[in-house]
Amino acid sequence: MGKLKCKCGHIIVDQTDNLEYKGYILPDVFVDDVSLNLTNNIDSLLDAINNGKRIEWIKKHFNVPPYPTDLKESSMIHDLINVTDKTQDIFECENCGRIAIEIGKTNKFKFFSPESDDNKGILNGN
Ligand SMILES: [Zn+2]
Repeated sequence: MGKLKCKCGHIIVDQTDNLEYKGYILPDVFVDDVSLNLTNNIDSLLDAINNGKRIEWIKKHFNVPPYPTDLKESSMIHDLINVTDKTQDIFECENCGRIAIEIGKTNKFKFFSPESDDNKGILNGN
């Protein structure tokens, strides 16, 4: 996203990881897809390993090289499961507490105002 101007004038900046005012929404209509994608990839990797075709599996799913062939299985599954393809970004304005939710995957946002002042930090993980 880069930068998003809140209705209050504050600039919400999205240029690093682990932001305490950013989150992701996974719409319920995509939960089954994400779950199925995860389990199918785990199953196919385990099948490949059991059949001595680990390298073939890696080449089928990644561009080798540069993708390495000595990663842990969990790292490869992580790389395959790109949940952010299905999620919408959500930001909290640190100044006024408004919530901005991405409309689909458009990189456009709709703002929602909080009903009280005591809900700042809703995305900080605490
Ligand atoms: Zn604001």
